[in-house]
Amino acid sequence: MNELSPAEWESLCDGCGKCCLHKLEDEDSGDIHYTNVACRLLNPVTCACKDYPNRRDHVPDCVQLDAGKVDSLHWLPSTCAYRLVAAGKPLPWWHPLVSGNRDSVHQAGASVRGRCVTESRAGPLDRHIVTWPA
Ligand code: SF4
Ligand code: SF4
Repeated sequence: MNELSPAEWESLCDGCGKCCLHKLEDEDSGDIHYTNVACRLLNPVTCACKDYPNRRDHVPDCVQLDAGKVDSLHWLPSTCAYRLVAAGKPLPWWHPLVSGNRDSVHQAGASVRGRCVTESRAGPLDRHIVTWPA
């Protein structure tokens, strides 16, 4: 992954949007719990960031993913393409680089499309814990 060009790096993202869901960390165990509440910059219909190039102006703690960080970000979902490639595992059939179709991740039900709520409507995050993104 260290040798990928910026364009190749970006194309590896499957567009699932799972990493853009809010997560809660258990203070005692350190366990991470996903919620179905999306970052305010995520378009819940397209699963795309509304202002990706300038996202950190809006959401300063949005993680800038790079090859050196993938292994340490244990909260990345198991289906995340960066995590799979880092572990030497194959990409799933629905990954756009395999299927040739940007929508296949959504058609396969592997994205957050139709499954997340916006921050402004969510209320307390602990009422939104879900297991499917992990
Ligand atoms: S979880 Fe990984 S593959 Fe999915 S949108 Fe986030 S960075 Fe891309
Ligand atoms: S700022 Fe954009 S890329 Fe970052 S978590 Fe929010 S929606 Fe996702």
